[in-house]
Amino acid sequence: MSSSLPSYPEAAAIVAAYAQKLAQIEHPVETVDLAEAASRILAEPLLADDDQPPFARSTRDGFACRAAEVNAHGFLPLVGSTRAGDAPSGPLLPGTAWEIMTGAPVPTGADAVVMIEHVETSAAGIRLQPNRKLARGENIVPQGAQAGRGDELLPAGTPITYAQIALAAACGYTSLNVFARPRVAILTTGDELVSVDTKPTPGQIRNSNAPMLAALVAAAGGDPWVLPTAHDNLESLDAALAEAAATDLLLLSGGVSAGKFDLVEPAMARLGARFHFTGVRMQPGKPLVFGRIPNRSRQGGQFFFGLPGNPVSTAVTFLLFGAPVLAALAGSRNAVPRFALARLTADTDRRAKPGLTRFLPAFCNFNPQPGHLPSVELVPWQGSGDLAAQARSNCLLVIGEDTSTLRAGETVQILLS
Ligand code: AMP
Ligand code: MG
Repeated sequence: MSSSLPSYPEAAAIVAAYAQKLAQIEHPVETVDLAEAASRILAEPLLADDDQPPFARSTRDGFACRAAEVNAHGFLPLVGSTRAGDAPSGPLLPGTAWEIMTGAPVPTGADAVVMIEHVETSAAGIRLQPNRKLARGENIVPQGAQAGRGDELLPAGTPITYAQIALAAACGYTSLNVFARPRVAILTTGDELVSVDTKPTPGQIRNSNAPMLAALVAAAGGDPWVLPTAHDNLESLDAALAEAAATDLLLLSGGVSAGKFDLVEPAMARLGARFHFTGVRMQPGKPLVFGRIPNRSRQGGQFFFGLPGNPVSTAVTFLLFGAPVLAALAGSRNAVPRFALARLTADTDRRAKPGLTRFLPAFCNFNPQPGHLPSVELVPWQGSGDLAAQARSNCLLVIGEDTSTLRAGETVQILLS
């Protein structure tokens, strides 16, 4: 049966194709204050309200001048002074220089700013040091060099972080139109699960996937809604699934393996679901189910993931498959999942099941010596239920399906988590 399952790259391509379609569907928009806009997604292009910069600006403390004149190395008298905040001045008469501060408007007639550190000063004015030359345009950012008035500075779909907030502030936006966060239902299943505030009796475990998925969803730009845990019977599942009907995305955890009480697939089938795949050749995460209930919730139907219940499998499959769909629903141009290269510090000696792409909890030192790749090592773990190993990791080491062991010193791929 394994060979009929898609490989990880094939499954990723299937999800990416649906995500691309979802990204094109119109997303609801809301307005938020600029101060509340971090981690949201721009719903419209950000336009320059004026030329950027709005006036020719000095990037140095020094003297506005004509480069050709200053390069003659004679003294130029100082005829004025402009500080940041002063109105544009000038014209600068031939044979003179003008004191200027960083950020101040360059007087008309000047074509360069000579740095204060590069001149001799006397009662006669300023003179360029003998061994120096000044190029035209040096230390000046011309008006409109970064953008012209009305230019598109950022497209819709740009994730908003500190940098976009600074740009929006510079252009006078006190609020921004952003896409509404997609509502994501989180439905954990399992008769063994009790809530976090309950002491489990023998055989029970606390439900760690619900808060974990809520955190993953929020970090990926969604609005998580945790439903009460469903029991491992069809009535309980049907009732919970009916509750979640209006959400943009449905994440189920558990109940997708081949066991007698793994009832997620039959429950989804009863809702008329289409299954895009029911398993992936990967480890952990092999039982992952991806599908859609047509004509439910939104245009294109309600997409759902049946995530395996083992917590590391749940997290890995969300990062690889859930996050791209959520990003598309959120209207984000952010490419997820995010991979990077690192240098492996020790051989991997894990027994490999052939034909499965593996994603193993690992720790990457992202602060290497300049010129070196980050270094990565596996975190010892006891399988995909090992929450402590997951919590000590900061990435996942990717081992391709044709690879049994990786050697120390090899350049390897990691999934950022
Ligand atoms: P399942 O996918 O339902 O077969 O569950 C696989 C394993 O994951 C079992 O050991 C479950 O007890 C565990 N598990 C399932 N759901 C959760 C959850 N919400 N939180 C923590 N562990 C879970
Ligand atoms: Mg279960």
